Amino acid sequence: MLLKDEVAVVTGGGMGIGYAIAVGLAREGAHVAIFDVNSEAGRKAASDIERSGRKAFFCQVDVSDPVGVDTGVKEVLEVFGRIDILINNAGITHPSVSILDLDPEWLEKVTNVDFKGVYLCARRVGREMVERRKGVVINIASVAGLTSLPLPVYGPIKSAVIMLTQILARDWAPHGVRVNAIAPGYVLTPLLEGLFQKGLRDRDTILRSVPMRRFIMPEDIANAAIFLCSEKAACITGVTLPVDAGFLCAGGWRAYGYE
Ligand code: NAD
Repeated sequence: MLLKDEVAVVTGGGMGIGYAIAVGLAREGAHVAIFDVNSEAGRKAASDIERSGRKAFFCQVDVSDPVGVDTGVKEVLEVFGRIDILINNAGITHPSVSILDLDPEWLEKVTNVDFKGVYLCARRVGREMVERRKGVVINIASVAGLTSLPLPVYGPIKSAVIMLTQILARDWAPHGVRVNAIAPGYVLTPLLEGLFQKGLRDRDTILRSVPMRRFIMPEDIANAAIFLCSEKAACITGVTLPVDAGFLCAGGWRAYGYE
């Protein structure tokens, strides 16, 4: 076991990538607190983990609400006494359209969950970690933060998450706290399935843009998170690890006739 008796908080752990990370960390021996707005999904995730023999509980937390985050963190500290791992995973996206056609309300919505949420959780939990001189933070960014896609709010916000990762990594490195990001490509989760169903993304078109011609599974992201949380990554901080089946390395190959 790579994470025996570590205490982890996973935001958005009720479903999708967050669920797979929560279950994966528990399989490696961690006890897990799930922060999610969806109480049904969050409770189920916690009980799935408890059945596997690790301690788990659910806190109904909206990561964009500083009071909720503070209350959730206090609850975890009461129950487990400490936090060793924070996975900032909760996130939402918006329709992929030109900025001219994007309803301005998305700016606030996506910024609140995908950036303010990461900022607030990292700040609150980071304070505990810096005091204890021990901890690992992983921010779930996206390939949309590393290359230009038609996502005029989500893309820049994920870039901001990547920069925040570097800033926190530098700030907390002397205090024994590592901070890294994972940039997933197209992962088959309820979020992406929902976009397919609504006709907002096309399965085959996406697959043609992925050199490995496959969707990433949530467990692939969980495996990267387990590695980055473990002592095997003891000297890795401030990096963003793409898990994208080759999406980013495709670069401009299409212009040369490579499909
Ligand atoms: P998902 O919609 O399947 O699950 C997201 C979870 O976060 C849900 O349980 C939801 O209830 C929770 N959540 C949403 N808003 C919240 C809030 N304000 N506070 C607390 N919890 C909240 O999404 P997913 O596909 O698993 O995405 C997880 C992360 O991975 C996101 O940050 C997303 O941007 C990122 N990502 C996903 C993909 C993909 O292809 N699915 C690709 C790149 C990056």
